[in-house]
Amino acid sequence: MSHSDPNCIFCKIAKGEIPSRKVYEDDDVFAFHDINPWAPIHFLLIPKQHLISMAHVDESHAPLLGRMMALVPKLAQQEGCRPYPDGGFRLVTNTGADGGQEVRHLHFHVIGGPRPWLKG
Ligand code: AMP
Ligand code: ZN
Repeated sequence: MSHSDPNCIFCKIAKGEIPSRKVYEDDDVFAFHDINPWAPIHFLLIPKQHLISMAHVDESHAPLLGRMMALVPKLAQQEGCRPYPDGGFRLVTNTGADGGQEVRHLHFHVIGGPRPWLKG
């Protein structure tokens, strides 16, 4: 697995080569607002390395994915998702064509805010 794909839009966003509305960044992870939000709050959490999808995940990725999962509730709260259980959020990861994945760089959608939503 290569660390960065020069043709990948999310690799370019993680490197700041394509502008985005940043939510969070550290050495391994980047989060930014979805350009086409389904709900009042909709951001994407991605690994900086070019990991294609959940179908490409193995044991070696467990620490990275564990860190990303631990970030989800923190970032959801930071971005304004109301507290559990009345608030909360939806966490979605599309994988492959049947899974509805459009961008081939692993991303977790974090979607929330008061309903109704446009989608989801
Ligand atoms: P998926 O269908 O799960 O692959 O989702 C891809 C998501 O990336 C969609 O919700 C798009 O709106 C979003 N997206 C595509 N290009 C950009 C971009 N340049 N900045 C922010 N979000 C994007
Ligand atoms: Zn990529």
